[in-house]
Amino acid sequence: MPRFRQIAEMAKLMSRKERVRNIGVVAHIDHGKTTMTDSLLVEAGLLPLQVAGSARALDYLEEEQRRGITIKTANISFLHEMDGAAYLVNLVDTPGHVDFAGKVARALRAIDGAIVVVDAVEEIMAQTETVVRQALEERVKPVLFINKVDRLITELRLSPKEIQEKSLRIISDFNNIIELYAEPEFRQMWKVDAAKESVVFGSALHKWGFTLKTAEIGQEKFGDRDILEAYREGRPDALSKIIPLHMAILDMVVKNVPSPVESQKYRVQRIWKGKLDSDVGRAMTQCDENGPTVMCVTAVQLIPNEGLVATGRVFSGSVKNEDQVYLVRAGEDRRIQKVSIYMSAYREAVSGISAGNIAAVTGLESARAGETVVEVSHKESMVPFESMTYFPEPVMTIAIEPRNPKDLPRMLEALKALAVEDPDLKVTIDKETGQYLLGGIGELHLEVAVNFLKKQIEEIELVTSSPSAAYRETIFYKGTLVMTRSPNKLNRFSIQVEQLDNKTMAVFEKDFASNEQELKKHVSDLAERKVWALDEHANILVSSITDDQFPEDIRANIIQGFHWACRTGPLCEQPIKGVKVELVAAEFDKNQGNREPSQVMRGVSRAILGSFLTAKPVLLEAIYNIEVSVPMQLFGACSNMLTRRRGKIESTEQKAGVAVIRGNIPVAETFGFSAEMRSTTSGRAFWQFVFARWERMPEKLAAETIKRLREGKGLPSDVPKPESFVDEIRR
Ligand code: GDP
Repeated sequence: MPRFRQIAEMAKLMSRKERVRNIGVVAHIDHGKTTMTDSLLVEAGLLPLQVAGSARALDYLEEEQRRGITIKTANISFLHEMDGAAYLVNLVDTPGHVDFAGKVARALRAIDGAIVVVDAVEEIMAQTETVVRQALEERVKPVLFINKVDRLITELRLSPKEIQEKSLRIISDFNNIIELYAEPEFRQMWKVDAAKESVVFGSALHKWGFTLKTAEIGQEKFGDRDILEAYREGRPDALSKIIPLHMAILDMVVKNVPSPVESQKYRVQRIWKGKLDSDVGRAMTQCDENGPTVMCVTAVQLIPNEGLVATGRVFSGSVKNEDQVYLVRAGEDRRIQKVSIYMSAYREAVSGISAGNIAAVTGLESARAGETVVEVSHKESMVPFESMTYFPEPVMTIAIEPRNPKDLPRMLEALKALAVEDPDLKVTIDKETGQYLLGGIGELHLEVAVNFLKKQIEEIELVTSSPSAAYRETIFYKGTLVMTRSPNKLNRFSIQVEQLDNKTMAVFEKDFASNEQELKKHVSDLAERKVWALDEHANILVSSITDDQFPEDIRANIIQGFHWACRTGPLCEQPIKGVKVELVAAEFDKNQGNREPSQVMRGVSRAILGSFLTAKPVLLEAIYNIEVSVPMQLFGACSNMLTRRRGKIESTEQKAGVAVIRGNIPVAETFGFSAEMRSTTSGRAFWQFVFARWERMPEKLAAETIKRLREGKGLPSDVPKPESFVDEIRR
C-alpha cells in the first residue's frame, strides 16, 4: 500500500478502537525476541523479507540513523489484515535485559498484551517468569510464542510425539506461572491454550510459525503442514512462504489480545487510583475519545531540532496539536506542538491521536517517563498514574570526563539528554573533585549508557573510571543536641538529628523521584513538627520555628545547608539516608552582610554532621536480589562463586535438569560478575539482579570501606570527631 494511504488508513483505524491492538514482546535473553520482532517488521514494510532474521533491525536502524534519515523509535505501528478486516497494531519496544527492568515496566504501561518468546529447547527460564509476572502486575495479558522449533527437529532430532510432549510441558509450565501470579479474575481466562490460538509454534530464524489445535501437534505432518519433510529435504525457507511467522503472530495477537476498549475496563483501576466514577475515571475506563484528554508518558527522547518527544498511551480524549495540557508531576501547563504516530521507523505528523492509541508529542519539555498529562480544565482534580519506578536510587556510579576539558559542555549536554531519556540514570557532580558521576542500576546498565553516549558524541574522547558501588551513611540512635556557629562566628544553629521513623521511611521508599508534592503532603501528615524540606535520600528537615522569627532571606539558605549535609556524610562523603534533622534554634547577626548564604549554609550543614557523628553512624551497602539458573552439574561451582562474593543463597529449586538459585548479593561484590559467571559456566548460566534494599555493612568491612573511600578522596583516613564540626555538645 502506498505510504500516504497507509497513514490515512491508520488514522481511520485509531477511532475504531475494537480494531486496535497495543502489544510488546518480552523474553528470557537469547530466546529470540529480536529475531521474532524483525519478522514482524517485515509486515510493517520496514525490513525486506530476506533481511529479517539475518540482519537485526536494530542494526538496520542504526545504519539509517547514521545516515541521518531516521530516528531510533520507541514504538512501531503497522496495519495487519485478517479475514478481510484491517487492524492497527502498535508494537512498543521493550528492552532485552533485566538490568532495564524499570524500562520494561514503563513499556508495559502502554500495552495490553505481551508476546512471550520461549526457546523450545531451553523451555521456561527464570527471566520468562519475571517478565510474565511483571506483565500480570500491570494487567497485561500474555500470549505465547514457542520459538526455535527447528532445533527440536534438526538438533535434538525429536520424534513428533516428543515434540508434542515438550510443547505441552512448556504450555503447562507457562500456565503455572499465570496460576501463580495472575489475580483471581484473570487466572483461568488468561491461561494460554493452543485450541484458542493463543500459542504460536515456529522458528523465528526460518520465519515460519503457526497456531494449531493441541491434538494436531503430535502428528507426523503437524496437521497438514509438512514441516518435518521440509527440514528433511533441507528447504525450511519454503515454509516462510506457506506459513509466514508474522501472519501467525499477528493473527494470534488480533484474536487474543484485548482491544483498548476491552482492556481499559480493568486496567485503569489497576494503574490509576483516582475515582472511577469521576469524569476522568469514566472516560478512561470506557476508552472514550470524547472525554477529557489523559495520556501516560512511557518514554521520552531528546531529538535535535525538535526537542523532547514524549511517547505514551492516550487513555481518554485525544491529544491534538496546540492543545493546552497540564503535566501533573512536573506541575506545569504546556502546549502540545506536534502530534505524530510511529510508522515503521518514521514518525508521521497527524492532527490528533485518540484514546486507546500510542502517541508521540512534542512541546512537553519537562515530561519524563511516568508523567501524567491531562487537559488543563481537569488539572486541579487530576490524580496521577501509579508510579512505574522500580529503582529509586542508583546503586552504582562511574566518573566520566572528556579527555580535552574544552569538550566539557558538549559532554554535559549529551549526558543530560541521556538522563532525560532514561530515568534510571542520574548525573551528579562530585563537589570536591569536580568529577561528573553517572549513576545507574548495575554494571551492564552503565556500560550500555556509556557506549550510547560515546556513539552520540563520537568526536569527543571520553575517559571513564571503573564503576564503584554506592553507599549510604545512616544512624540508628538519636544524636545529641549541638550548637554550631557559622564560620564568621556571628550566627548560631542548634540542631539535633535522629533516625527517621519507619512509616515516613516507607513513604519515601515507595515513590520519591516522581512525585515530590504528594510525598511532602504525606510526610507533613506524619511528622509532628513542621516539615521544611525533604531530601531525595529519605531525609527530612523539621522545625517548630515559624517564618516570622527569621529575616526573610534565611530560610532558603538553611534548607540548602541541609541538602548539602545530606549529600556528603561525615564518614566517607556518601549520602546520608533516613535521618530526621530538627532545627531547634537559630540566631542571626543583625547585619545582613554577616549572614550571607555561605555562612548560613556552612553553619547548618556542620551542625547536622556534628550531631550525626554523635549518633554512632554506620555504613549501608546496596543489596541485590539475585536469581541464577544453571545446569545441575554446575550448581556447585556457581554457588561457590556466589558465596565467595558474600552472596547468600535463600532457596534452590530443580527443574528439567536446571538448578534455580535465589538469594541476595551486595552490589559491591558484583563487579566482573558477568565475566566470571560466563567463564565458570561456559555461558550456560542466566541470572538477574534486582535492587532489594540498603543493608548495614559488616563492621570490619565497613571500616575498611570507609578508609578506602576517604583515602580515594584525599581525606585523612580517620573519621572526624563530632567536636570538629560543632562548638557545643549538650550531653
Ligand atoms: P533475544 O536475546 O531474545 O533478542 O534473542 P535473539 O533474537 O538475539 O536470538 C538469540 C540467538 O538465537 C541468535 O543467535 C538467533 O539467531 C538465534 N535464534 C533466534 N530464533 C531462532 C530460531 O527460531 N531457531 C534457531 N535455530 N535459532 C534462533
